[in-house]
Amino acid sequence: MAAPKSNSAIYICPISVKPESMKNIEFDDLGPTKLLQLYDPESGLRGMVVVDNTALGPAIGGVRISPAVSLREVARLARTMTMKSAIAGLDHGGGKSGIIANPKQDNIEQLVRAFARMMRGVEEYVPAPDMGSDESMMVWIKEEIGRVLGLPEELGGLPLDKLGATGYGVAACAEIACKHLHLPLQSARVAIQGFGNVGRAAARFLADKGAIIVAVSDSSGTLAQKNGLEIDELLAAKQDKGTVSGSSQGKTLPGDAIFGTDCDILIPAATPDVIHRNNFEQIKAGLILQGANIPVTREAENALAQKGVLVVPDFIANAGGLIMAAMEYRRKSATEAFATIERKIQKNTDLILLKAFKENILPRAAAEQLAIERVKAAMALRDLSYPWK
Ligand code: NAD
Repeated sequence: MAAPKSNSAIYICPISVKPESMKNIEFDDLGPTKLLQLYDPESGLRGMVVVDNTALGPAIGGVRISPAVSLREVARLARTMTMKSAIAGLDHGGGKSGIIANPKQDNIEQLVRAFARMMRGVEEYVPAPDMGSDESMMVWIKEEIGRVLGLPEELGGLPLDKLGATGYGVAACAEIACKHLHLPLQSARVAIQGFGNVGRAAARFLADKGAIIVAVSDSSGTLAQKNGLEIDELLAAKQDKGTVSGSSQGKTLPGDAIFGTDCDILIPAATPDVIHRNNFEQIKAGLILQGANIPVTREAENALAQKGVLVVPDFIANAGGLIMAAMEYRRKSATEAFATIERKIQKNTDLILLKAFKENILPRAAAEQLAIERVKAAMALRDLSYPWK
């Protein structure tokens, strides 16, 4: 790969300055402490990096590749990573990055490599896979800057998507949330929106625990079967044909039909803000486990609580991938990582649900209070202008 050209522009914005382009970014006591917008005229790369808070340690966060990714979305996701790390008891902060592109476009390698070179100096942020990026792309980043997580196993990594770390954590979370609701997981009916890395693994691990997967969806639509979909055939169909509609089972419905599925547990595992004020009333599930990041708007989360629906927030339910990345950072094995995911997620789910019921607050509020306490205690001891590598 040719050496990078030096005419690329990097703009670093300190927290005290808020130019026009950052008017829709929310700043508070925790951060975000660093926002970078990247533009490389040579490759055409447009992207961004947000370091939210590094009081507890270096920030870990995925690289989202999507034509629609925005600085605001990345900043919100970076905050989620700060909270997720703190509540999971990890010595890491929160960050996130984005590349505005289609992950399948021809020059994606050139864009990812340019992205890596342009964020080389942000040493307190360690990139990892996210929507649109995968282990092979992490190899390109490793080659460029030597600092990355989620590498393939052959290169000493713990490939969290291949291993299904986040879906494993969602299933571990389901066990505890079901106990609180006196709902037997062994026969619970589950609907999953998004059948990518998170959704597929959640389906597999939940089916292993005896749950019945009654509907799944992806960008091609919803596939539903009241008596339960056969998971191995479904996974094979998604692998071969690229969509859940390629399966020979069940009934194909429009994508949004997933939200009205008659089920006990709904797992949004695709994109942000998919459950909102205009569709929350359709939901029949009594339990929502947030597999995706910020899939339910705050307004809908409040409204669902009033309807009696228990919503376990993203930074508890989907922390499996981050915990595995933190284990890779410490060079632990996959077996140790899975055991840690199960232990931490089950302990935290129990802790925040007990606190939420006792104090009559939302599980998200209970988790946020605990996470913020931990970050602030660390901030009281540290100066964040020193990068924490
Ligand atoms: P992915 O790209 O592997 O899969 C996304 C899936 O969502 C695909 O099946 C896609 O078809 C589907 N999808 C997209 N738009 C949809 C729509 N409108 N309706 C239905 N399905 C739609 O992504 P992923 O890694 O599975 O991540 C999914 C979500 O989980 C993201 O929000 C991500 O930030 C979050 N998350 C991922 C991990 C991880 O370990 N991969 C960890 C924590 C959180």
